[in-house]
Amino acid sequence: MKAIQIVTPGQAPELREVDKPTPGPGQVLLKVTAAGACHSDDFVLNMPAEGFPYPLPMTLGHEGAGVVAAVGSGVTTLSEGTSVAVYGPWGCGVCHFCSRGLENYCPRAAELGIAPPGLGKEGAMAEYLIVDDARHLVPLGDLDPVAAVPLTDAGLTPYHAIKPSLGKLVGGTTAVVIGAGGLGHIGIQLLRHLTPARVIALDVSEDKLSFAREVGAHETVLSDADAVANVRKITGNEGATAVFDFVGLQPTIDTAMGIVGTMGDVVIVGIGDGVAAAKVGFFSQPYEVSVRAPYWGARDELIEVLDLARDGVLEVAVEKFSLDNGLEAYRRLAANELRGRAVVVPD
Ligand SMILES: [Zn+2]
Ligand SMILES: [Zn+2]
Repeated sequence: MKAIQIVTPGQAPELREVDKPTPGPGQVLLKVTAAGACHSDDFVLNMPAEGFPYPLPMTLGHEGAGVVAAVGSGVTTLSEGTSVAVYGPWGCGVCHFCSRGLENYCPRAAELGIAPPGLGKEGAMAEYLIVDDARHLVPLGDLDPVAAVPLTDAGLTPYHAIKPSLGKLVGGTTAVVIGAGGLGHIGIQLLRHLTPARVIALDVSEDKLSFAREVGAHETVLSDADAVANVRKITGNEGATAVFDFVGLQPTIDTAMGIVGTMGDVVIVGIGDGVAAAKVGFFSQPYEVSVRAPYWGARDELIEVLDLARDGVLEVAVEKFSLDNGLEAYRRLAANELRGRAVVVPD
């Protein structure tokens, strides 16, 4: 079967012929119906060869959807032909975090050799995908897999990032979204649907800002050296109640820290360059600001996000590519030329 793999760190991925896998005990084989490309793939592709954390070559794709093609022995909860989305941040399934659905924070995953598809295990950018356990699969019902697959990360991650701030985002407050890309454009929609807050979106081009307004941002501000002053013109001295930074580079984190108000939240979601950080101290920011850097989301939250999509409140902007043309998706992702999410669909 065909698969898009990272072969050499620092170089573009390759479309290669690999063996079609067979499911072992407890595993599920999916015929992939859609796979999303993510900025964190780009981050992985550009990690240095020395100390590269994953086995190579490795099939990319941590956003996956498919139809159950076969099940391994012992799998009784899913039947062939069921259309499903894959919950990606696999954990051990039995520890305290996993028991709460927070497999993204499983403390035992690394020692047990458990890794997400596309981030340590063979991913979804292929004709078939092995899923380690049926509990990682959420039935899609009549949801279109192409529209739904980005929700497994680009929907789940902003949902998990926003949820703890919901109690603060009451009437009259302001939420700021930095980066109106794959995650940010869904984050804006979630904030509009789940809160009465005024939503301000920041990005680096007028094109991205008009996209942000299309998906629901009340106001937009160019993300440049004047961003803090320009956001403060809107919020006044109160500042923003919650800032969601879907970029995570030093300038965007500095902007977030500059616009957050007293008792506000700064949520750093974007990986950025991997080293950017927020400076926190008594005199560094308004009183009682909380800073958190979440990773992906919980299993129950994916079910909630897919239910929101079923209710018709999430419009995911998708650019579709065939598997044969999947390398072009990665080229455009790296060049920041995508409007929304790139989804690869095997023929
Ligand atoms: Zn991702
Ligand atoms: Zn666990």
